[in-house]
Amino acid sequence: MSPADLQLAVGTDGVPTVAGTLYIDGSWRRGSSSRPVLNPADATEISQVDEASAEEAGLAVAAARAAFDDGRWSSVPAAERSAVLGRVADLLQANRSRIARIETLDTGKTLRESEIDVDDVTAVFRYYAALALGEPGRLVDAGNPAVVSRVVHEPVGVCALIGPWNYPLLQMSWKIAPALAAGCTAVLKPSEVTPLTTVVLVGLLEDAGVPAGVVNLVLGAGAGVGAALVESEQVDLVSFTGGLSTGRTIMRSAADTVKKVALELGGKNPNIVFADAVLDAAVDTALTAVFLHAGQVCSAGTRLLLEEPIADEFVAELVRRAELIRIGPGLEPESEMPPLVSAEHLAKVEEYVRVGLAEGARLLTGGSRLSDDQKGYFYRPTVFTDCRRDMRIVQEETFGPIVTVERFSTEDEAVMLGNDTRYGLAGGVWTADRGRAQRVASRLRHGTVWINDFGPYLPQAEWGGFKLSGTGRELGPSGLAEYQEAKHMYENTEPAAQHWFSGGQPG
Ligand code: NAD
Repeated sequence: MSPADLQLAVGTDGVPTVAGTLYIDGSWRRGSSSRPVLNPADATEISQVDEASAEEAGLAVAAARAAFDDGRWSSVPAAERSAVLGRVADLLQANRSRIARIETLDTGKTLRESEIDVDDVTAVFRYYAALALGEPGRLVDAGNPAVVSRVVHEPVGVCALIGPWNYPLLQMSWKIAPALAAGCTAVLKPSEVTPLTTVVLVGLLEDAGVPAGVVNLVLGAGAGVGAALVESEQVDLVSFTGGLSTGRTIMRSAADTVKKVALELGGKNPNIVFADAVLDAAVDTALTAVFLHAGQVCSAGTRLLLEEPIADEFVAELVRRAELIRIGPGLEPESEMPPLVSAEHLAKVEEYVRVGLAEGARLLTGGSRLSDDQKGYFYRPTVFTDCRRDMRIVQEETFGPIVTVERFSTEDEAVMLGNDTRYGLAGGVWTADRGRAQRVASRLRHGTVWINDFGPYLPQAEWGGFKLSGTGRELGPSGLAEYQEAKHMYENTEPAAQHWFSGGQPG
């Protein structure tokens, strides 16, 4: 895709609408530098995007600050804000195949998955369009009939929204939809690795009627542009999705200005299978849990825990089916598993396989590139068995198509292993015994627990992590609350002097 195509991608009617890929105070503009965007399937350049300097990030923040302070969005009636979000959802659907194609070119993921992402994102905008209608607040009984005490929820202010490369459109939408529903203004900073669909999304927000200055877009590397947003005194909240070490850096630097911080970080997610599970479904889902999007999923089920009696049979079937997965470019309809996102990430995954072998894990399949002369970043589905809980490949997020297998004998041991991680994002439990399913699910310290499934999420249900997987929640009512401040309004309808101080009598 050429820069001209990207411009076409932004307009909803096929007319080029942008002069550059930064969007500040309602204008598309060029940045002070540019960066090539590569197709992970063949390493070819698909676009050049403008990137911002720290100064340009400051301009974007200033625009968002002014837009928030003059109330041009927060004072828009809730029904109109809701209608704008609804129009974004309509535009996403009207542009579904074009957006999905761009997401696939940029991230590598299969077209089928990109199309599902667009549908999911549409549902998220529709959900927050409904929540934007809001509530009048909560009346509190002050114990005094002359007092009206009310708790209302107001927008938190200017939000810096920083996204990862694995689900660029989806993760950014989880942030901007509730932020706009709450009445906030924002500066968006997608990953420098996969910026394209966020550019398109901002074009759709503009077309849907979001006023100038309310949403601003800066592209660029985290350490420059991202850090400038986090450090800015003009920003009230940072919502970040990405890796643990970046999350720690952001939390530390946000401390200076005591910003509100929401962090969606990594995961090392157990998938626990008891012997009485429906094994065909459990094997099938164990494959999608880890090999969907080549394992580049924060909630990937990379840590498979199998009950002893079925472990051998389960692993044999898992390996057989893993070897049948068709690896190929995301745009090719027959491709089932796409490439990894970049050469750097491929190198990281390869290093984890070396670590696993050195630690004594047994490689049953995979562990190599698709071919030696490949141009894209393909890696085979990889299964390690004979894994121990203290191994790095069992404890660290590999973020690639690697599953590790451990065995357990009792329910308590399954729970212990399922919680034996510093992360706490998601986990699954497979069993025909509903009582056991509920017992295990309630003991797992993860933000999402699937029973006899792995992977689905709903816009209406909270998403987020326990422990090092983050703070705060996205989606659901809590996903809106992240972007709101609670305010208590206490009105005394019959003011009268209390004479607490004896000298305070009328003279
Ligand atoms: P990353 O931490 O490298 O980068 C994420 C974003 O932060 C990028 O936009 C990057 O430019 C920016 N950034 C980097 N340094 C920064 C700094 N100092 N200040 C401000 N911004 C900075 O993460 P990634 O590699 O893009 O994404 C993969 C990670 O994201 C994985 O760990 C994955 O588990 C996690 N993730 C979590 C969820 C979730 O819902 N919990 C969802 C998707 C991805």
